[in-house]
Amino acid sequence: MKVLFLGTAAAEGVPGLFCGCEVCCIARQRGGKDLRTRSSIFIDHTLKIDLPPDTLHHVFTYQLDLSRLKHLLITHTHEDHLALHELGYLLPGFAYRELPLSMYGSADFVRALDYMPDQVRNALDVQVMQPFTPYQIDCYTVIPVLAYHREDEQCFNYIVSDGEKTLLYMCDTGWYRDATWRYLAGVQLDAVIAECTKGFVDAPYDTHLGLKEVLQLKERLHAMGTTHAQTRWAVTHFSHNGRPLQEELEAFCQPHGIEVAYDGWMMAL
Ligand SMILES: [Zn+2]
Ligand SMILES: [Zn+2]
Repeated sequence: MKVLFLGTAAAEGVPGLFCGCEVCCIARQRGGKDLRTRSSIFIDHTLKIDLPPDTLHHVFTYQLDLSRLKHLLITHTHEDHLALHELGYLLPGFAYRELPLSMYGSADFVRALDYMPDQVRNALDVQVMQPFTPYQIDCYTVIPVLAYHREDEQCFNYIVSDGEKTLLYMCDTGWYRDATWRYLAGVQLDAVIAECTKGFVDAPYDTHLGLKEVLQLKERLHAMGTTHAQTRWAVTHFSHNGRPLQEELEAFCQPHGIEVAYDGWMMAL
């Protein structure tokens, strides 16, 4: 399984769209891995998770051909993960491609589509997923697990398996609640891609994770037997408020056996 990180930032990106903070200035100066667009991954160029507002940039930068995209999983409806208006460009006249496009997500995600014009909804084959239920999508088994992220919406993290390797993509979530821990106790993971919005900074909100919590998560999943010695760990989804500069993140994470994702990184499992 090959996981291409199209984007690795939260909300406004790094540097932030309109931001002049110290971290954003350093990121602008250094460029390269410190430039982060809104988060999405593309598994084997087949299964895409999320449709961030930077998707057109991803198409240019990684020479993607999304006319061949058939399966789009959505974690939740925050705008850094789902740029709803872009779906309008699926329609004939804007795009020459086969329709419908299959989209998958929670019932709350599907409700968000109610505000889209009929033509757009007709261009989609929308599948409502129930948490902790396996779905066969192409050659993958996909299991949505409950994230702890929004009071007003059922948000998903995804377990994806190709029959050989199994990964967990944890965007976005805070510390899991009981139902998710219980489910994960019965799962074996070869890779965990954890969100790390808070980075080095211990911000008071609990609907995202930081480095401190990722270390606790790693310990807990190992103790539960969900991960093993060879399980790959990576962090992604950084906010500039968490001081996410690649060099500093790598220096912190490497001793803990955690890789630091950056835009354009391919994680081969
Ligand atoms: Zn996010
Ligand atoms: Zn979010």
